[in-house]
Amino acid sequence: MDSPFQLAQQMAQLDLEQRQALLMIASGAPMATCLDALTEAVGRLAPGTRACVLLTNHDRSEMAGGYSSHFPPSFSESVRGLPIGEALIGTCGTAIYAGEPVTCADVENSSQWSPAWRRLCLENGIRACHSHPAQGHGSRAVGSFFLCLGEAREPNAWERRVAEFGALATVIVVERERAAAHLRKELDSLARLQALSAELVGPGQFELLLKKILAAAADISGTDKGNIQIWDPDKRSLRIVVHQGLGERLVAHFLEDGWDASCGEAARNIQRLVVPDVLELEALRGTVGLEIVVEDGIRAIQCTPLLSRDGRLLGMLNNHYRQPGGPSPDALRYIDLLARQAAELIERHQSESELAKERQHKDEFLAMLAHELRNPLAPMRNMLEVQRRSRGNWQQVMEANEVMERQLQQLVRLVDDLLDVNRINRGKLELRMENVAVEDAVRQAVEMCRPALDARGHQLQLTLPSQPVAVNGDSARLTQILGNLLTNAAKYTAPGGLIQLQVESSGPRVLITVQDNGSGIPQDQLDHIFEMFSQVDRSLERSQGGLGIGLMLVKRLVEMHGGSVQAHSEGLGRGSRFCVALPQAELETPPLPLPLAPRDSIPRRVLIADDNADAAMSLATILKMEGHHVQTACSGAQALSQGQVLQPEVVLLDIGMPDMNGLEVCRRMRQLPWGRAITIIALTGLGQQEDRRQSEEAGFDAHLVKPVNIKLLTDMLSTLPMQKLMASFGTGM
Ligand code: ADP
Repeated sequence: MDSPFQLAQQMAQLDLEQRQALLMIASGAPMATCLDALTEAVGRLAPGTRACVLLTNHDRSEMAGGYSSHFPPSFSESVRGLPIGEALIGTCGTAIYAGEPVTCADVENSSQWSPAWRRLCLENGIRACHSHPAQGHGSRAVGSFFLCLGEAREPNAWERRVAEFGALATVIVVERERAAAHLRKELDSLARLQALSAELVGPGQFELLLKKILAAAADISGTDKGNIQIWDPDKRSLRIVVHQGLGERLVAHFLEDGWDASCGEAARNIQRLVVPDVLELEALRGTVGLEIVVEDGIRAIQCTPLLSRDGRLLGMLNNHYRQPGGPSPDALRYIDLLARQAAELIERHQSESELAKERQHKDEFLAMLAHELRNPLAPMRNMLEVQRRSRGNWQQVMEANEVMERQLQQLVRLVDDLLDVNRINRGKLELRMENVAVEDAVRQAVEMCRPALDARGHQLQLTLPSQPVAVNGDSARLTQILGNLLTNAAKYTAPGGLIQLQVESSGPRVLITVQDNGSGIPQDQLDHIFEMFSQVDRSLERSQGGLGIGLMLVKRLVEMHGGSVQAHSEGLGRGSRFCVALPQAELETPPLPLPLAPRDSIPRRVLIADDNADAAMSLATILKMEGHHVQTACSGAQALSQGQVLQPEVVLLDIGMPDMNGLEVCRRMRQLPWGRAITIIALTGLGQQEDRRQSEEAGFDAHLVKPVNIKLLTDMLSTLPMQKLMASFGTGM
């Protein structure tokens, strides 16, 4: 037994050693220096003993070597890699395993431990030993403090106490070291993230940048394996775009088909999935996928969805680990940051590709538009020349007129379609809903397309239901829908074709089918045919003109009527069928038409004001031919001064004039004595409800859209004084 004096001395020495050890640790001395010094201090505190610190690896599955100032490095090295467990690593392993001190008082005669351990001890002169677990944060042992005696005996209480001190100090050193390593790793990861962010801001190559993100995610989470997939919403599939460290078979197997794998599950739930052990995953059991994954040396997987800012799935960032467990919570934090970067990169890449596609579409469209505009212009110019040279050959003049009228009609349709597309895209297209007999819309559409049908010698078969059917819709737009389908049927069918238009009542819907026996549409294009600028043959040399917007207009207009349209074709050369379904309405009897006013052509005093001199002059010529007395003005101010002199009965006013617009001119005319009761008609390119409202407010009697329907205008002039006609008359040429 030690005397109280001896004990007090020992305690004072322990206190001193403790202070020195703590100072050394706090000074930032390397771990090896601290631990070697610790074993030396223990030797001083308990003379006749020697000591060694043995450490475990991170997940405490095996020994990671040790430190000692008493034993050669080969001693602690000989335990490196040994699995921790009672039998294999003697007292130290057992102390770590059990979490409490373990003693062996007679190494030579103890049968409890493995022969390898006993041999190691005896070779190093260890006859008895005491291992104290070094238990760190949350009682997790980071290693064991190994106190060795030269003779076979139990360690005394002081020696046990000293070993405990050694274990405690070991914990402090190791945890300081691990915290520093952790900090270093965090700093490395942050530096890497920052470098990546800087790169991502620049132009860089998409796949190369994705690869860098993937490499960082793999590195930071302690693996070399992984891939990034991109989500294709059309195919509903995940496609691997970059990968690293994965075998060919694995990449080929999951290349397009990740939907059923773990990444697919994470993608479906839009939530990260960590599979700590693929062998434990019920869904994978017995699958080829599992066989391939195991063959690739994978035990754990993490799958993180890549989401756009508005929460859409863009892809997946996946890593694969050789050991069960997967990434640490810290690594997952970095994976989240990298996933954000990858998502932003993908989103940016996709919108850039979209923009490039749009730009290309726009260029193609402009090329096609120029081509389409030029097409009717060439025959018009030719026919003008014919008229100039025909010198009284009435037949030739009439023929030339017909050609020019047809071509002009085509130009007007082209411009109207373009304006409609623009209105639809801006949500500005309004329907004027009324009860429409479908038969009426069909007849008007047929009338509109008759020249095109006749020009190609097509036969048109109409099948109408025995009882008339009706829809609630805009009659002009319904005519436009059917007109577009009939025009296409005429265009895409070789001369002498058969075109059938059938209307039938089918429960709550009216079905209208336009079928032809023409060129047909390839199966793979049927889904896209209604998209803007979509054309089966996009070459400028194709025989049929068009901008590829007719069907898009058909679809949007049908949808605005609450209906749907579908295209069918058995393939190229096998005809096409377009089916429009519209909600059916009760047919209302239309009110009796008002008796038509007499059509005598009474000569009127007409003033035309338009800043486009040709437009004013050509309209004046026509009206003069009808017997009217006409004057023209090329500005608002001139219109006001000429009006004073002419005292017109009718003024035709262009709205968009530079000095004073037509609305203002009209307002002023209405203030003047001669303008109060006359008829003032607006001529304009704008025919929306708002435009008509403005005209009415300014004091106009009618609002006509250019190019003006001449017959309508001359009828108006012969029936003065007229009722207000604020309806926007279309361009019906
Ligand atoms: P456009 O006729 O001006 O090219 P559309 O939007 O009307 O534009 O039609 C788009 C494309 O659909 C056409 O270019 C043509 O390839 C195809 N298409 C439309 N209707 C038919 C039809 N009846 N038969 C064969 N192809 C058609």
